[in-house]
Amino acid sequence: MSSRNIVVVGAGPVGTVAALACARLGHRVTLLEAEQRVNDAPRASTTQPPTLEIIEALGLIDEYIARGLVAPTFQFWDRPSMRLVAEFDFGCLKDETRYPYVVQTEQHKLALMGIERLKAMGQAVRMGTRVTGLSQDADSVTVETEQGPLRADYVIGCDGGRSTVRKSLGIEFEGFTWPERFLVITTQFDFAAALHGLGKRWECETISLKPYPCAHVLHSFIDAILALRAEGLRASDVARIRCPIAEHMIGIVCEPREQKIAPQNDWQGRGSLPYSLAEALVTGRLDGTSYRGDAATRGEIRALAAKIEYEVDRSAKPNQFKGWVIAELNEGRVLEKIEPYNRGSAERPLRDFDILKKFRDNAGARFDEARIADIETAVKSLTGPGAVRRLGAACSI
Ligand SMILES: Cc1cc2nc3c(=O)[nH]c(=O)nc-3n(C[C@H](O)[C@H](O)[C@H](O)COP(=O)(O)OP(=O)(O)OC[C@H]3O[C@@H](n4cnc5c(N)ncnc54)[C@H](O)[C@@H]3O)c2cc1C
Repeated sequence: MSSRNIVVVGAGPVGTVAALACARLGHRVTLLEAEQRVNDAPRASTTQPPTLEIIEALGLIDEYIARGLVAPTFQFWDRPSMRLVAEFDFGCLKDETRYPYVVQTEQHKLALMGIERLKAMGQAVRMGTRVTGLSQDADSVTVETEQGPLRADYVIGCDGGRSTVRKSLGIEFEGFTWPERFLVITTQFDFAAALHGLGKRWECETISLKPYPCAHVLHSFIDAILALRAEGLRASDVARIRCPIAEHMIGIVCEPREQKIAPQNDWQGRGSLPYSLAEALVTGRLDGTSYRGDAATRGEIRALAAKIEYEVDRSAKPNQFKGWVIAELNEGRVLEKIEPYNRGSAERPLRDFDILKKFRDNAGARFDEARIADIETAVKSLTGPGAVRRLGAACSI
């Protein structure tokens, strides 16, 4: 067969495959694509055995399979009822084809593979070249583009559903538009990792309970300062306190510094490392009554908070909420306490007694003892029909 000069319009999967097939037969090919780059929006991806054989004939099969997912079965689901309608086992075709499976490789990957091969073969690929019309005489076709005309022995129109080539030839597009609309969404989110152990592993077993009414990342620091207080440390002894802290926590509880030292309300105080530590050291506790002391106490707490500084803890591990307090005393001694894990975490669980005490202290601000006992009973029997309703009734105000 003598070599022909062939123009292929459209670098979708059909155009690139057609161009590559022509090039492999020895023809000179020019592939024209209107856009600057191949459209990689999610569209077709499932490739059945006969198409895999065509892709093999084009010399692309190994890369095509390597860049996709091999599925030995194919399922049809009924969307409204979420019911599996049928499952096809392609393994039944093992004596009929070398590819008894389907391969999921997105169509833009096929187009890009084809373009790469065409370029490697020295064929012309012209992106950003829109075809505007064509005409033919007895010998050749003239392809009009926005960049000027091209002549070819043959033109293959692969320019999609609204094909300019088709319209130029006066060919109708038969068929109909489905009345449904589809939304296609793709993501690189790792669902397998996120769903690992779903229904078997209970995340609530690793949730930290909060013994103190402040930001979760502060809890180990509070434990550390209260431990130093139990050993005799007092606010009046302090020249300076340094707190090494994981870098990602700084923007949460250490900065902006002016606000963290002198919070404008109790919520700002609960998110402040220096203020919460100062409150714990001055008052000896951090509970439901904290963050709202009288003016004199608040003044003392702020003065101490101004002496509490932070520095980056380079040894902090991800997901570890360590508390590290280094207190430099006026008389020159340095006291240090590290709490590796926060109380209430899986590594350092709270005792039932501590949980109940916190509940009773908090509930006591609102309910009498009989009501508190009712709520505890309802929580302890939180199984079976009506249990949640009983708890709701016990808690109602
Ligand atoms: C959201 C969505 C999901 C789909 N899902 C599936 C699926 O799951 N399975 C399936 O089999 N099919 C699916 N399809 C259909 C499938 O994408 C098409 O059948 C396939 O793209 C057709 O390939 P093509 O190469 O003929 O045309 P296209 O992929 O449309 O490529 C045509 C190319 O021609 C270019 N072009 C257009 N006009 C000109 C011009 N005048 N000059 C130069 N270049 C031009 C375009 O820019 C484009 O790059 C889906 C389609 C969509 C939109």
